[in-house]
Amino acid sequence: MTAIGASEWALAVKAIDGAQQVCLTCHVRPDADALGSMLAVGTALVAGRPGTEVIASFGDEPFEPPASLAFVPGQQLLVRPDLVPAQPEVMVCFDASALNRLGLLAGPAAAAGELIVVDHHASNTGFGSVNLVDAAAPASAVLAAELVSRLGIDLTADIALGLYAGLSADTGSFKFSATPQVLELAARLVATGIDASAIARELYDSAPFGYLQVLSVALGRAALEPQAANGLGLVWTTVTRSDRAVAGGLPLEAAENVIDEVRRTAEAEVALVLKEDDHGDWQVSARSKTQVDVSVVCAALGGGGHTRAAGFSVPGRAGMAVPADEVVAAVRAQLDRT
Ligand code: MN
Repeated sequence: MTAIGASEWALAVKAIDGAQQVCLTCHVRPDADALGSMLAVGTALVAGRPGTEVIASFGDEPFEPPASLAFVPGQQLLVRPDLVPAQPEVMVCFDASALNRLGLLAGPAAAAGELIVVDHHASNTGFGSVNLVDAAAPASAVLAAELVSRLGIDLTADIALGLYAGLSADTGSFKFSATPQVLELAARLVATGIDASAIARELYDSAPFGYLQVLSVALGRAALEPQAANGLGLVWTTVTRSDRAVAGGLPLEAAENVIDEVRRTAEAEVALVLKEDDHGDWQVSARSKTQVDVSVVCAALGGGGHTRAAGFSVPGRAGMAVPADEVVAAVRAQLDRT
């Protein structure tokens, strides 16, 4: 099902089988694919390798597992990043394209006896000792499911739920990659008894009331630039720290779906949402429809991602966000180049 060779899978299974402790991690500010894949494999290892100690973490400071993903089983495996050994015996890393996406855990990952990288970013640097990387996979969850299967561990509902959350999220609820392979995997996961409708509700149709306020402000200030991107059109908006404060202290992750409204704009090939985090850094999400490779645009600005969905960060100056116009100007310049 994937482009990864049998020998690479065998190396991963051998490393995991030989370990007394397996440390799992994923990219900072984890999304459903990163956290879901990680906790699914963690849950599988607890069930299928009872003698092995399993911990899971990610390198954010402060360490705050996303409340919006609290429905994913396996949260009891999560530990703060400072409790991860400095030199883990075996580390498995999910949905991260490079070591610098691991934040505080980049050091332990680099020092791990074996580092198994499970990822689907085209820009993946191959930073593991074992690389289970397939850019054609629509989600890391596809590769995580294959790893569970290669470990000979039967799918249970608790394993399947995180995998399904990751698969659903990264395919835009099966809008972007509705292939037979994706739908067959989804069917196998749903067959374990998970409630796919409930997961969809959690992922897409549930937000605090403050989200409506933030969304209305963000949509109200959206700007359309039909001439940008060589005439293909750009639409963009911002979600500031003060927007979130006014809306009852809405967490940054709760503004994640604003881009899904903005990118509807028929007049624009490219959509951008600049979200200001609690430190005054911009976390920028970029989407395209059919032509522009936003992963190239974002990579040029220090980020990365996929052809149609990518992002980058812009650090603040002295705790203040840089003007949004500056960030958009940098994107515009890159778009004119592609
Ligand atoms: Mn992913």
